[in-house]
Amino acid sequence: MERWQQEDRAAYISAGQLVDTMGLSESRRVLIDRVAAQFPLKITPYYLNLLEPGNADDPLLKMSLPCEEELSLQKDESADPLEELSTSLLDGQRQLLTQRYQNRVLVFPTTRCGGYCRFCFRKRLAGKNGRDLSPDQCEQIASYIEDRPSILEVILSGGDPLMLEDKALAALLERIRSIKHVRTIRLHSRMPVWNPYRLTERLVALLNRFQPVWFVVHINHPRELTGLLVQALSGLIERGVPVLNQMVLLKDVNDDLETLNSLCWQLVKSRIQPYYVHHLDKAQGTAHFRVPISKGIALMDQLRQLLPGYALPRYVLDLPGSTSKTPLGNHPVNYEL
Ligand SMILES: *Cc1c(COP(=O)(O)O)cnc(C)c1O
Ligand code: SF4
Repeated sequence: MERWQQEDRAAYISAGQLVDTMGLSESRRVLIDRVAAQFPLKITPYYLNLLEPGNADDPLLKMSLPCEEELSLQKDESADPLEELSTSLLDGQRQLLTQRYQNRVLVFPTTRCGGYCRFCFRKRLAGKNGRDLSPDQCEQIASYIEDRPSILEVILSGGDPLMLEDKALAALLERIRSIKHVRTIRLHSRMPVWNPYRLTERLVALLNRFQPVWFVVHINHPRELTGLLVQALSGLIERGVPVLNQMVLLKDVNDDLETLNSLCWQLVKSRIQPYYVHHLDKAQGTAHFRVPISKGIALMDQLRQLLPGYALPRYVLDLPGSTSKTPLGNHPVNYEL
């Protein structure tokens, strides 16, 4: 077994083990069990090490530790906030891909993730007991793309595509690359944040075989960008795979100027380009992470003054039925043409 697989296996931690490791109370164990029955608990030992167990305000803890608020569902929340099911190719219950934009398609190779984020907007899919793609499902996806020459980019999303083992990932990429009209392949992955050991030299060489490949990582807080993670992502960058970062604006995690500024600077120091700041979708049990759009816009206005233009991420909202992400911001222009 490879190092990343050992790390992954150890991430399926029980509430009891977690409570022992972190010195939490028995009542917390009961609560964590209840919450985890709705959306599973999974934290790698590597990520556990980054937490500050005694600090209830620790942003990394908020993102990874099941809490009571997840159980209080709001009227405006939905299991499918982006109405992806209506634009998806399904095999029975299993969502294989979704296409909401003209020329880009999202493929869901697995429902598993490196760890489970408490704010996840795809709780409907992630962590559910669905399987990885079968060879037959892989073919269904390929035929869908083959039949539509307008599809120029294929994005592997998730679940997390890097949960696939190298062989399965290579088979999927090979099949996608055999379709002539596909120009770029993109991976959306938070796996390196949970488990940087996943970015082995072999994986990097594998991705390099299917160039042009773009990699979008999902880092929400500067403390997640560890030396080990920077080193792992450098492997990709040095093999010519551009790395971008998307993040979600989360209350009490990163909804302040200092944190956003520090994260963006640390990203560009590591040659990673900040891409999107996503406004949180209304997925079930995530209301405690909500930040008002007006606050997000104000933060972005301040951030614009502190960052090089290329380092400023785009603050966007994903709306069901829209054909691209919707940019958020004040765009006052006082200028006569
Ligand atoms: C976000 C998203 C994409 C990718 O959008 P980009 O703006 O190209 O990053 C593609 N398809 C769906 C359904 C999406 O939600
Ligand atoms: S890695 Fe992505 S899909 Fe998986 S739980 Fe986290 S936010 Fe959801």
